[in-house]
Amino acid sequence: MSVNYVSTRDLKKNQITASQAILKGLADDGGLFVPTSIPALDVSLDKLADMNYQQVAYEVLKLFLSDFTEEELKHCINSAYDSKFDTKEIAPLTYADGAYYLELFHGATIAFKDMALSILPHLMITSARKNNIKNDIVILTATSGDTGKAALAGFADVEGTRIVVFYPKNGVSAIQEKQMVTQKGDNTHVVGIKGNFDQAQTGVKQMFNDKALAAELDAAGFQFSSANSINIGRLVPQIAYYVYAYAKLLKEEKIKYGETINVVVPTGNFGNILAAYYAKNMGLPIDKLICASNENKVLYDFFATGEYDKNRDFILTNSPSMDILISSNLERLIYHIAGDDAAENAKLMESLKTSGKYQITPEMKAKLDSFYGNYATEAETCATIKKVFNDTGYIIDTHTGVASNVFDKYKAETNDSKTTVIASTASPFKFTRAVMGAIDPAYEKEEDFVLVDKLSELGKVAVPNAIEEIRSAAIRHDTVVEVPEMCAEVKRFLGI
Ligand SMILES: *Cc1c(COP(=O)(O)O)cnc(C)c1O
Repeated sequence: MSVNYVSTRDLKKNQITASQAILKGLADDGGLFVPTSIPALDVSLDKLADMNYQQVAYEVLKLFLSDFTEEELKHCINSAYDSKFDTKEIAPLTYADGAYYLELFHGATIAFKDMALSILPHLMITSARKNNIKNDIVILTATSGDTGKAALAGFADVEGTRIVVFYPKNGVSAIQEKQMVTQKGDNTHVVGIKGNFDQAQTGVKQMFNDKALAAELDAAGFQFSSANSINIGRLVPQIAYYVYAYAKLLKEEKIKYGETINVVVPTGNFGNILAAYYAKNMGLPIDKLICASNENKVLYDFFATGEYDKNRDFILTNSPSMDILISSNLERLIYHIAGDDAAENAKLMESLKTSGKYQITPEMKAKLDSFYGNYATEAETCATIKKVFNDTGYIIDTHTGVASNVFDKYKAETNDSKTTVIASTASPFKFTRAVMGAIDPAYEKEEDFVLVDKLSELGKVAVPNAIEEIRSAAIRHDTVVEVPEMCAEVKRFLGI
């Protein structure tokens, strides 16, 4: 059965193919693309248990990306999940303190965004070819730190693509900046702006919406595209690792055939946990989807009350990738629990836009019974990191710490003892200072790279390549521009 895509806000339900949805990113009406139906897994769990990561990924991707050939998909998968990852397993499971940590941080930038951003460039280039697009694809991104580097690493040296990343010159951490400005690849361009993240984001959006600029680009053989997290080319590859984790537990006889497991996901934009929801709806035996938030607990309140309300203070925490008040991917869940009703969804999203909040119906809320939401404060997160380390010697990062703490709360509330997988979304080396400070506040006065070596010693894990590289790597990008010069800078890089 072939799966097409519709916008969550399109009352007419116009369908486009997967490759067209990947190229477009966001629908013209502002909605997100969702599959016309969620396909069921068509190989048995036993068979999946004998497959490696790439093979499992193929079994998932072939169902959602119906207009790709087997050869195309396998090429994309093998180009993505290769030696850029520091383990053949790609996403290994580690047991510690009563849960299986699914380590999604073994890619180029040691955070889970690599799972999707290492394959998206290949899906995009293949999509362009399938749709007879001759132009080179130019990815434009504004970043507050992490996404920019993961996108750069994914697109670097991918033929037929260019990538330009804008970041606030004084608004990212020293390590994040070093990671970006040392990026290799002649098709990459990193630009600091004299402004904040919102100004970078607005500048990028203006370029996307500029029709004259699009025509100028087209004449020179280029067109813009976006790598942001609402692209289905990022969502679909994330489903694969939940299937892989289940298959692995089965293979290692940690669970019986068909036994249900719980999944805990540290959540920000709701992409990762939505992938788990899709996996469940494909027939993977998942019981509870446990949504873990930090102090920006808009989702916890939503699951508790059925009201989504972003009107509140934005809190900066030590799990910055979850500091989000508008979880964009939640719109897809809203559409599904409304019974794939675009009119109902569009009404709620309009309310979000005008008043910053919306309330779902009791019928919709009843469809959320597989979700459990809770949150962890910064102090609770630090205490959990310390406890897991003291009990087991395993060191988790701050985002994963939020998930682990929420899992403890879930167990205390429910006495549920099902086998549980916690999505471990970043290497502790990415947040060394906060992690080491949680283990012992005395570390807080040490230098970053001293802490890196201490962490390696304490956790008995080698320093990841991504960190080793930036110790000594040469700076390759030193362009800084004023906000109004962003567009001119893009043209200069493209030679037009
Ligand atoms: C992006 C990110 C998250 C949040 O994932 P969403 O898909 O946005 O919910 C959690 N942890 C880390 C380390 C991340 O980079």
